Amino acid sequence: MSQSAFDNAMSQLDKAAKVMNLDKNIHEILKSPDRVLIVSVPVKMDNGEVKVFTGYRSQYNNAMGPYKGGIRYHPNVSLDEVKALSFWMMIKCATVNIPMGGGKGGIIVYPKDLSHGELERMSRGYIQKIYREIGSDKDVPAPDMYTTPQIMGWMRDEFEKLIGRKDPGVITGKAIADGGSEGRETATAQGGVYVVRELAKKMGLKPNLTTVAVQGMGNVGGFMAKILAADGYRIVAISDSKGGVYNEAGLDMAKVEEIKKAGGMLGCYCLGNVCKLEEMPKDGPCRHVSNEQLLELPVDILVPSALENQITETNANNIKAKYIIEMANGPTTPEADEILKSRGVIVVPDVLANAGGVTVSCFEWEQNVKGEKWTEAQVFAKLEPMMVQSFNEVWETKEKYNVPMRTAAFVKAIKRVAAKMKI
Ligand code: NAD
Repeated sequence: MSQSAFDNAMSQLDKAAKVMNLDKNIHEILKSPDRVLIVSVPVKMDNGEVKVFTGYRSQYNNAMGPYKGGIRYHPNVSLDEVKALSFWMMIKCATVNIPMGGGKGGIIVYPKDLSHGELERMSRGYIQKIYREIGSDKDVPAPDMYTTPQIMGWMRDEFEKLIGRKDPGVITGKAIADGGSEGRETATAQGGVYVVRELAKKMGLKPNLTTVAVQGMGNVGGFMAKILAADGYRIVAISDSKGGVYNEAGLDMAKVEEIKKAGGMLGCYCLGNVCKLEEMPKDGPCRHVSNEQLLELPVDILVPSALENQITETNANNIKAKYIIEMANGPTTPEADEILKSRGVIVVPDVLANAGGVTVSCFEWEQNVKGEKWTEAQVFAKLEPMMVQSFNEVWETKEKYNVPMRTAAFVKAIKRVAAKMKI
């Protein structure tokens, strides 16, 4: 990408501001986070030496409610990235109209290099440095890349020790036994499926005549493919980090599931984490595809569910899908957005398509704050109307201003944030 993530975020803000004729003072305020914490986290390593890790927490805007956003452990974490991600969280929460603002945090670390004990000490050390600025009524972190329910549990425990009282709503994405919400595991995918159903109504898509390729078979892509297949969609291609499989006639997702569970290999399907090309029937209908090829397959719907920056100016002209459902965060670059727009491809943006995850995180926070415990059925009964309404609001905004859905979501979200800003 030519620009930084934050520059990209700001160019999206400017685009929406122009379309909606945003008040220039509000526009100016929205160009910077409310507050950014940069902390040094000293950790006593197992060999007795102290190593100092750099951590961040960006609190972008809390007009809608407490700052909300994950904590990422990754060597590429940077101030620029954390600021951009916190801005996008503000937009995402406001797109689905939950009472949360935008935040994001991270530590520059490759967590797989740390022992269990080192990881715990680093996670607790990070909270010791930021605890005065977080809390269920202030800023509510959550997991992100390489952070887990176990890490959220340590963080909550450290926070509560420091403040001397219980505050389970300080962090979401906790294990269910530790105050997590039922339904969180599948919430992002389920929210994406609600969005696909609405798109299908608008475009007159019939599931059995609609082909789908899903990049990424993790928490989001795996459940998305499974639920769409249950809806009758023809899942023709799936992939993981090692590559993918394509069968024009459609993949049997029940079989994929069975194989994933068993960690075995059957016919042309993926095995655990690896697609073994050499074991595929040579003359069968199924073939191996790389992740790059998967993106360019002749399908109706493409569902990037893995990494950012997958659809770029280099491959946007080769995308054949008519619809892209962005389940990953940031899979499409701004340059690719322009190309897809000119080619009439409808991109359902991440801030809408994958917002089921943060919405159920917000439900977790609400349950913790109110001392309630909802069933999975209750969680999805609340999630569905919110996703349906948000999709339709963004769709109407897209029609009204004749803009792509991403800009429409930004316009809708910024209107909500601006209405709550006291200036
Ligand atoms: P995950 O770690 O469970 O799964 C990631 C998947 O992507 C794995 O199947 C992995 O093999 C695959 N992958 C890795 N590198 C790849 C590559 N180069 N090409 C193709 N596939 C590759 O992660 P997840 O929770 O499913 O998250 C996926 C995306 O969805 C991320 O962008 C994440 O930010 C976004 N997201 C997740 C949630 C959530 O609730 N988990 C919510 C909102 C957005």
